[in-house]
Amino acid sequence: MNIKKYIHIVLSTMVILLYIVLFIGHEYIFSNDLHEKQINKYSIEQINKEDLKIHFINVGQADCILIEKGYNSMIIDAGNDEDSNLVFRYLKRQNIDKFDYVIGTHAHQDHIGGLDDVINSYDIDNVIFPKQVHKTNVYKSFIKAVNAKGIQLHSPNVGETFKFGKATFEIMAPNSIKYEKSNDYSIVIKLTYGDNTFLFAGDAEYVSEYEMLDNELDITADLIKIGHHGGSTSTSKDFINKVNPKYAVVTSVSNKHGYPSYKIISRLRNMGIEIYRTSEYGNIVVASDGRNITFYTNNN
Ligand SMILES: [Zn+2]
Repeated sequence: MNIKKYIHIVLSTMVILLYIVLFIGHEYIFSNDLHEKQINKYSIEQINKEDLKIHFINVGQADCILIEKGYNSMIIDAGNDEDSNLVFRYLKRQNIDKFDYVIGTHAHQDHIGGLDDVINSYDIDNVIFPKQVHKTNVYKSFIKAVNAKGIQLHSPNVGETFKFGKATFEIMAPNSIKYEKSNDYSIVIKLTYGDNTFLFAGDAEYVSEYEMLDNELDITADLIKIGHHGGSTSTSKDFINKVNPKYAVVTSVSNKHGYPSYKIISRLRNMGIEIYRTSEYGNIVVASDGRNITFYTNNN
């Protein structure tokens, strides 16, 4: 066999092997995490009015989380600027007319893009936002809306707790004043209702995760909103081990830009955590009576 032919065969074999590995990886990550048995078709009547409700509104590669408890409501982020109509329709369906708390986790547009419209359109008691300044237009619109309402932005302090009806939430991050990465400014909160706990990780990455660990904060939770759409620079092994959740919600589209990352999904699966992805379920609603957590979806 001449050397050229040999190289050709070796290269072809490598390409075929690479293709197989990629294909299996691709199939693995896209093989869904649907738990048809545990999830109910969403119907507002089905959920007990007394329950705490957490709506992960499907805004694609972005975050928008509505939380309701009786007459109290709060919103964590509001998707991109162009998600406003979708978010408004959703809020209207839930008969939301005011917010006790609006939390902008950090200055990126997939989080605060739609918040200016929410602030302009609803009665709002408190706006919580990290000490982060950005040059973008979405940031400017957000600040403009806050100022127009005469609201004083509240900068979160770790350990600070807020009352939310019969629930409470506590600030877990940011633990520093300055970060290299914008995502690490993310406000992370832990919401407690009865025996149930929920950790909303914003887009916090390793640096912020290790600060929470180093400061020995009680980040354990039944459910975690996975940081940064399941990207590989969040959800470190140490962090997720400490949180030790039963459920994980991932807000992303299906893996187009490496979100969620194969590595993170495998990590969660290997820990036996049930994964719920907005890319598979659409809007995900989590109800808690203070003891039990139930999942609902309306698939859009
Ligand atoms: Zn994001």
